[in-house]
Amino acid sequence: MIRSVDLICSRCGKSFVPKERLFYQDDFTAAPLKDTKFICDECMAKWHDRWKIKDAVFSERDYVLTVDITLEDGTRFEHLDATPIEETGTVVTGEDIPEEAAKDLFARWEKFAAEKEKKQIKDCFFEKKGEGYEVSFTTVGGEKHDHVPFSIKDGYLILEEDVDEDIMEGIVTAYKSYLSQETMLGTSESPAAASAARRKRPRPAWPGTGPDGKA
Ligand SMILES: [Zn+2]
Repeated sequence: MIRSVDLICSRCGKSFVPKERLFYQDDFTAAPLKDTKFICDECMAKWHDRWKIKDAVFSERDYVLTVDITLEDGTRFEHLDATPIEETGTVVTGEDIPEEAAKDLFARWEKFAAEKEKKQIKDCFFEKKGEGYEVSFTTVGGEKHDHVPFSIKDGYLILEEDVDEDIMEGIVTAYKSYLSQETMLGTSESPAAASAARRKRPRPAWPGTGPDGKA
C-alpha cells in the first residue's frame, strides 16, 4: 500500500522539502517510516555550526575514558563516555557529534594520551628509612624525584611531595608489587596503599578484595 507522509522536521516541527539528501535521526523506538525522525537541512546546518569545540577535558580512571566538552556557544557536556577509534581518527561518545568535531576531539585525545604517557613511572625504588619509607622515581617524561618520604595512613599512601595524580597511581602500583615481594620474603607489614592527600575522592586502591590478589 502506498502511503504518503508529510516531511516534518523532528527538531523544529516545520515541514520541509529535502534537497539531495533526506536526513533522519536513527532511533530504535521508530519502526515505521512515517515515525522516522527526519531532519531538515536547516537543523543539520545548525547542528554542525553548534559543534565547535572550545574545550575538551579527558580523564581516565580504571581504564574508563570520559570527556567533559564545552562548545563555543557555552554548551557543556559532562562525563561523556569516550572511545577513541584509531581507524577513523575520531572519538565516539554518547552524544551525536558531527565528524569534523569527532576528529577534533580525537586530536585533543591524542595530546591527552601523550601527556599521560609522560607521567608513567619508569623507575621506582623504595627504601626503609627509620620508621618510615622513602621512594625515588623517574617518569617516562624525565621527571625525577629522589628520596621522597611517604607513609601509609588508613589505607592510603601519603607522599610528602605533591605529585600529579597519574604519577601517584604509578607509585601506588609499584609499591604494591614491592610489598608483594616483601611478603614473599616474609617481612611485609599489613598491606595498604593509595592516593595522595590532595585526591578529591578518597579511594582505597589496595586490591585486597580480589581473591587473586590482583588490582
Ligand atoms: Zn528543522
